[in-house]
Amino acid sequence: MQECKKGKVWLIGAGPGDAGLFTIKGKKVLDQAEVVVYDKLVGQGVLGMIPAQAKLIFVGKVSGHHPIPQHEINEILLREAQAGKRVVRLKGGDPFVFGRGGEELELLRQHQIPFEIVPGITSAVSVPAYNGIPVTHRDFVSSLHIITGHTKKKDEAEIDYEALVRLGGTFVFLMGITAMPKICRGLLKAGIEKDMPAAVLERGTSAHQRRVVSDVSHLAEDAEKAGIQTPAIIIVGKVCALEKDFHWAEDRPLGGFKIAVTRPKDRDSSLADKLSMLGAEIMLMPTIETKVIADNKPLEDAIHDIRRFDYLAFTSPVGVEGFFNKLREMKKDIRDLGSIKFAAIGSATREAIEKRGILVDLMPSVYSGKALGSLIAAESEEWGSKIGRKPEVLIPRAKIGTDDVIRPLEEASVKFTDIAVYDTFEASYGETDKAGAISKLIDFAEEDVDYVAFTSASTVRGFVTASGLSDFSSVKAVCIGKKTAEEAEKYGMQISTSKQATIDSMVECFLSLQP
Ligand code: SAH
Repeated sequence: MQECKKGKVWLIGAGPGDAGLFTIKGKKVLDQAEVVVYDKLVGQGVLGMIPAQAKLIFVGKVSGHHPIPQHEINEILLREAQAGKRVVRLKGGDPFVFGRGGEELELLRQHQIPFEIVPGITSAVSVPAYNGIPVTHRDFVSSLHIITGHTKKKDEAEIDYEALVRLGGTFVFLMGITAMPKICRGLLKAGIEKDMPAAVLERGTSAHQRRVVSDVSHLAEDAEKAGIQTPAIIIVGKVCALEKDFHWAEDRPLGGFKIAVTRPKDRDSSLADKLSMLGAEIMLMPTIETKVIADNKPLEDAIHDIRRFDYLAFTSPVGVEGFFNKLREMKKDIRDLGSIKFAAIGSATREAIEKRGILVDLMPSVYSGKALGSLIAAESEEWGSKIGRKPEVLIPRAKIGTDDVIRPLEEASVKFTDIAVYDTFEASYGETDKAGAISKLIDFAEEDVDYVAFTSASTVRGFVTASGLSDFSSVKAVCIGKKTAEEAEKYGMQISTSKQATIDSMVECFLSLQP
């Protein structure tokens, strides 16, 4: 109770960027956050996990503005915690590895605000790993040193290069890009071997990570030629030479791909999971939102009279959810559904049904409303002759659903009842809107996305609103089917269409493209 009144602060490491490297504990705490204070280094994938209800406070440097001074950040944390909130302070990498985590705790400690630390994966070891460089290796080094290249006073002598060179081992410099020539000079002056392997690793763990591998005498020059920018780490030591044997991240089937996946907010995306397992970096864009219609007399009537129907056809997991929520609300369960047959448009919908303990009777081989409608039409004719009357179909689905599924039923004169169970909205981006708060974290123009995946025409429209772009000719769209492609064409996007209208076929399509 005490804790609750006072609020609490969790200092959480978000990892180096790849959302998969965020810890399970970090995610659990973030799910419960009421206020999230974050800065620039937190990866977009982790920002996308911030729950819609949380208040967001950005304390990073925005171009053209000064960074928010540390004491102000400390005060923000204190103020929010004193207001009784569950405050998450999200920081890139690990909060205590050059993350000023300690400084942020001091004021909280003074005011006896409870806090917890959730360590994160530091860039100092993970960025080398994603570049095929093990920071230690028994054949080469016996120590690892993590050093800041950005000292408080701009005094070169602050780093004791002689001591470092005497110790040997692997040196990792964070925040060292500006000071790189100085650092290399310092090491050389202290007597490090001139041809000691060294590398600079830019935007590690992201799809567009880059590395320049050289030696300590030439690194600064080579990095400048390559136009290396922050965030980047410098690594010096024999282990850098192992990269040529151990590189792996960009060699994955979709390594180097940054793909924006549009999806209904707060829903899992199996496409995103599959692409990311193949090595792509995913940027989740919540461009459509769904809302189950609560006050739904037509659905209640249909459920009261459920025995009249022979088929229950679902075209989305949200439809399944809406239907079963209502069933439960009406104090009924699957026993009240009798021997009704279940039809699902595709595997995600089938899973949603099966989770409720029901096996699906019908599912078309292609994911499309038309295929589902045709399948039910064909099967119900047979079934009708068995039961000696015309079967009836109940279709609980989206309010703005297309006629694709019902047309084949009409053509075959199959009786059906089409009921809207949820509404679909393009995610809104207003100041006051919670979903908007999340979406505003994504500035599409600033993200160097290679492709955008569209799984329906409405995701195209949602993206058009959400992206804030006015010209779409440089957007490379991968579309799930013809309808979706037609919609993307309207905006002049460059289009690839999957052979079949299935998620797996979308994945195949990506595998045939270049990042
Ligand atoms: N607490 C962070 C470090 C903060 S200091 C951590 O544990 O990783 C910021 C520096 O971290 C940057 O200047 C850069 O040197 C390094 N850095 C952070 N993320 C990085 C990334 N994805 N790729 C390369 N360097 C990164």
